[in-house]
Formats: sequence, structure tokens, C-alpha cells
Amino acid sequence: MTKPARTKVLIVEDEPDIAGLMKHALERSGDLDVEIVGTGAAALKSVMEDPPGLVLLDLNLPFIDGIEVCRLLRGRAVSAAIPIIMVSARSGESERISGLELGADDYVTKPFSLRELVARVRAVLRRPSQVAVPERITAYKRGSLTIDFDAVSVTVSGASVKLTKREFELLCFLVENRNRVISRDRLLERVWGFDRQVETRSVDVHVGRLRGKLGSAGRQIETVIGMGYRFVEEPESAAALD
Ligand code: CA
Repeated sequence: MTKPARTKVLIVEDEPDIAGLMKHALERSGDLDVEIVGTGAAALKSVMEDPPGLVLLDLNLPFIDGIEVCRLLRGRAVSAAIPIIMVSARSGESERISGLELGADDYVTKPFSLRELVARVRAVLRRPSQVAVPERITAYKRGSLTIDFDAVSVTVSGASVKLTKREFELLCFLVENRNRVISRDRLLERVWGFDRQVETRSVDVHVGRLRGKLGSAGRQIETVIGMGYRFVEEPESAAALD
């Protein structure tokens, strides 16, 4: 199969006017094909069906925000290496850093000039393709809980805990996002995948089982009523995180 001469760029932006301007500017030179989607879910679907050469990802999207879309794209083999440029109205340094930490290749702050945007897109497309997967933590050790992510092993107070694959994934995701509230929907997406036949209630069932198996450390998984779950990290004193 011959490689198409035009590179597909996927714009994920819920404001049609802005998306339209971006598309127009990018398509002017004739070598880029732009597709516009307005939600994170549509972006994930489009990337699965027809992977683009680059994603321009607005941070502030309805339902699933850009940070989460970036995380999901980076977490999947099919999209792990696709360059992502984050677009955001927030100019705060912390958003910039978290975007880049998640594996975004560049970051453009609104308002931007279309010329600047096109230049950034071209610069990223020229880079040799590299898998920009953020560095994962490979181990977690704090308080009584030790997790070895690579060896898929969990111990509480030195005693090994046997978890199912899903329970392990649930725990890893909660710990990766420690001290943050994670909604049931997000857990469902992350641990069960997007084609979900599963109900959010089964998240509760799995979290309940996970808590039971973790014994004393199970108390660190808090239910946040009406919102979801949060893994609460033990205080610094007994800690080592690598
Ligand atoms: Ca937006």
C-alpha cells in the first residue's frame, strides 16, 4: 500500500469557529488533511479507526477533558506514539507541565496566532517519530503498601496479596492518581475499556473486593459520595516512592 501524501491532523476542539480557523490555516499549503471532532470520545474513536499523524488537543473539552484524552491516547499501543499538541486557554505553568508530563509534544496557549500554530504543527511533524510515553512509575512503596507494577505484585505489611487482573489495574490507576478523586466512569473507561457492557455499579463491586483483599491498606481507598473514589496516600513519614 502506498503511503498517502497528505498527513492527517486531528483537531479536538468543541468550539467550531476556532476549529474551523485552525483547519483552514493548516490545510492552506495542501499537504495536511484536517478532521475536526468536538469531544474526547469522538477523538478516541477517530484515532482508533484512522490514526492521524498529529493531534491538536484542546484542554478544555466537555465530558472528558484534554488531559484525560491525552492520557488515554498515550496509554494505548495504537496511539502511544502519535504526536500531540495541547491547546489551552489556561496559561498556568502547572497545566503546561502536566500536559507535557503526560506526553504531549508541545503546548500552545490561546490566543495564538494561526501562523504560530502552523509553525508548531510543522515543527512537531518534522521531528523523528519517537514514542513519547511518559515515564511510568514502576514501584510504589508507602506505609504498609508495596506495589511492583512490572512484577504485578502487591504486598500489605509484607504479606503478599492475590489480586485479579482487574483489581490490580484498578489499584494501579487509583495509586497513579493518588489523592485525586476518580469518577466511576473514568475507572470504567480505564480498566474496562471504552466498549463497555459493564455498568458503573460493577466498579463498586470490584472496589469493594479490592478493599477487602488489601486489609488495613484498603482503608486508603475512600469513597467520595456522589463522585467516585480516591486513593489517599499515607503521610510522608513512612515513605519511599520510586
Ligand atoms: Ca474548548
